[in-house]
Amino acid sequence: MTTHTPLLLAVEDLTVSFDGFKAIEGLNFYVDTGELRVVIGPNGAGKTTLLDLICGKTKPTEGSIKFRDTELTRLREHQIVWKGVGRKFQTPSVYEGLTVYENLEVSYPEGKTVFGALLFKNTPKVDRKIRETAEAIFLTDMLERPASELSHGQKQWLEIGMLLIQDPELLLLDEPVAGMSVRERELTADLLNRITEGRSVIVIEHDMNFVKQIARKVTVMHQGKVLAEGDMETVQSDPRVIEVYLGH
Ligand code: ADP
Ligand code: MG
Repeated sequence: MTTHTPLLLAVEDLTVSFDGFKAIEGLNFYVDTGELRVVIGPNGAGKTTLLDLICGKTKPTEGSIKFRDTELTRLREHQIVWKGVGRKFQTPSVYEGLTVYENLEVSYPEGKTVFGALLFKNTPKVDRKIRETAEAIFLTDMLERPASELSHGQKQWLEIGMLLIQDPELLLLDEPVAGMSVRERELTADLLNRITEGRSVIVIEHDMNFVKQIARKVTVMHQGKVLAEGDMETVQSDPRVIEVYLGH
């Protein structure tokens, strides 16, 4: 018997260099199973690049990214998705012409491959999953509306839903509350606190009020490295963190 929470993600000695500029340099970063981790840091710190590296969009110059026992740096982007890593980019990309229901339906895993699409039957199980997901993302009332009618914040939720319906073990969210109203931010905090059941989530954010509502452990990045890590209080009182933020 062990009480230790198993590591889900281990990023070690990670470096990526763009024409000699190191956007990530010797980074070590560990996430446990069931963790909601917030990554903060000034613009240009390398936060988005870190997510690009985890999801395989960018390949590192050096270092390792282990997801359980799998070395992700050797895999292609779609293989990383199959392994259970879902990524949401900064700008929402939903199918504007499809309804909320259809957006969730096409994101359902078995609907995805060419054969899957041809053979795909919307069974009661799929229908239930779509409705559960819609409820989780506050869009039950909008199920039959085209996505084009959603507010920017609702589109962000829909995109989170399109990832959730695939049941990823690790969810990567890049500034999910950008462009959201205060009320939408509160609901999103609630959503993120709920979806960590059975999965880990890494959220990049720089809205400090929002971070306070969700943060358990915070990683502060600066110039491609981890500057500080700990709970919100520890990190906020760290002189190095204060300096970096005041410097902006
Ligand atoms: P953050 O998300 O923390 O604001 P980014 O990860 O987007 O920062 O960027 C980190 C640094 O790396 C920035 O200076 C950015 O200009 C640079 N960068 C990111 N991607 C590329 C790229 N593909 N080519 C060249 N430079 C890049
Ligand atoms: Mg960014």
